[in-house]
Amino acid sequence: MEVTGLTWRDQVLAQVFEEAAVDLGRGLKAYIDSRTGARKGPEVGFPQFKKKSPTGGSFRIRHKTSKGRGVRVGDGERPRSVTLPKIGVLRVREDTRRLRRMIVTGRARILFVTVSRGANRWWISITLEAADLHPGHQHPTAGHASQPVEAAVDKDDAQPTGHGGNGWVGVDRGLHALAVAGSSNGVEVLRLNNSRVLRRGLPRLRRLSKAVSRKKKGSKNRKRAVVRLGRQHARIRDRRRHVLHQVSNQLVKNHALLVLEDLNITGMRSNRKLSRAINDAAWGELARQITYKQAWRDGQVVVADRWFPSSKTCSACGELRKDLTLKDRTFECRGCGLVMDRDLNAAVNLAAWAENHTSPVDDGAGRGVARVGDRQAAGPVTNAHRQDAPTRDGSRGRGGEGLHDVGTNPQTAPAA
Ligand SMILES: [Zn+2]
Repeated sequence: MEVTGLTWRDQVLAQVFEEAAVDLGRGLKAYIDSRTGARKGPEVGFPQFKKKSPTGGSFRIRHKTSKGRGVRVGDGERPRSVTLPKIGVLRVREDTRRLRRMIVTGRARILFVTVSRGANRWWISITLEAADLHPGHQHPTAGHASQPVEAAVDKDDAQPTGHGGNGWVGVDRGLHALAVAGSSNGVEVLRLNNSRVLRRGLPRLRRLSKAVSRKKKGSKNRKRAVVRLGRQHARIRDRRRHVLHQVSNQLVKNHALLVLEDLNITGMRSNRKLSRAINDAAWGELARQITYKQAWRDGQVVVADRWFPSSKTCSACGELRKDLTLKDRTFECRGCGLVMDRDLNAAVNLAAWAENHTSPVDDGAGRGVARVGDRQAAGPVTNAHRQDAPTRDGSRGRGGEGLHDVGTNPQTAPAA
């Protein structure tokens, strides 16, 4: 006989229900604000019931330090474990040693934990409040742009900040090359060719989704096929995310001043021929990563004006080529005869744009230091009440590991 009602209620931590209620409240507020116009952006619908499904779902637990019922990481000499209240010790896939060390030294504090199910795996995401990066891994706040400009035109000589130019590095996101970064004097500092993760995984994706639709609804075979399809989706997603993290890390590590163009991604996506490729390139996600990582390092990100024609302008003489099409991979200027890679030309223009649109501040040495007056520069970065947490024993300054913490991915998956 099928059991109905919430007979399993006492098996679940009370907090799970509380957090679900919090989410419902949030959803209702967003719905009402959207109706009354208090909320910008796309229209928000009425909150929907979650489906009980073997493949999806998630719950959240707040970390409580009282009563010893909190979330613990790597408990009892088991670095690959997370201990949750009421559930107990869970074996996880990733080593939590680094995270544990940060928590023990007071450099990180667990806020809450979200357990979710996806691609037939359980995932634990730990949300932390962490100390700032070690100053050695941050960009110097001032003077960066005022360093003596040395002509390092040769690409091989290009040091992280010694690429010449004005200190700004423009990042052009595209489909041909996923990202091309260049400084205002025409030096290419980074190029990432588009691996088109999705396109490569597409044949398999198609085959698996066909397999799902061929199976009888509600059958075990169909369930199995759904899981297989989900795994392929997850594989593609993970590969894409990996590439984006690598690029964003490299950019924020080497450049204190970054310029992105304001892409009307939603508008471009309505071009059906390009929409899948644009989704695959994940431009928005790249911008998001660059913005928050740059904030960690105390660097700056500005977004150029949406109408700034970064692709169609000659980066040498400023002449506009209105007839440039997407197919033209090389920018050839009719004014000065410049021949340059299309994406690099756009990146160089962006770098130059930033120089002209940031207000110079006197740094005392008579040189102008770029200061951003752009409101978008602040970005959606939340850096709420971070603590300057000294180590408990005081023997070492905080930030002993610094750089390693940058990539700390607190998301761990149990092996089970
Ligand atoms: Zn020109």
